[in-house]
Amino acid sequence: MTEETESKIQESALTISELISHFREKCKTCGHHRIMHNHLGVCEGVMNKPCTSGCDVFDPE
Ligand SMILES: [Zn+2]
Ligand SMILES: [Zn+2]
Repeated sequence: MTEETESKIQESALTISELISHFREKCKTCGHHRIMHNHLGVCEGVMNKPCTSGCDVFDPE
C-alpha cells in the first residue's frame, strides 16, 4: 500500500478493519471474495486460476 493510499484511508471515515470486511464479502455468483473482482465487478479469479464461473458482476451474498 502506498503512503498516499494509507493517508486517504486515514482521512476517510473507514477503518482498515471495515475495509477488510468489505473486501472479504463473498460473491453469490462465483463464491470468490469481492477483492478478486476488478473495479468493473469482473472476477479475475484466485492466484493463477481464472474464475471459471464467468462472473462479470460482483453480487454480494
Ligand atoms: Zn470468481
Ligand atoms: Zn463473482
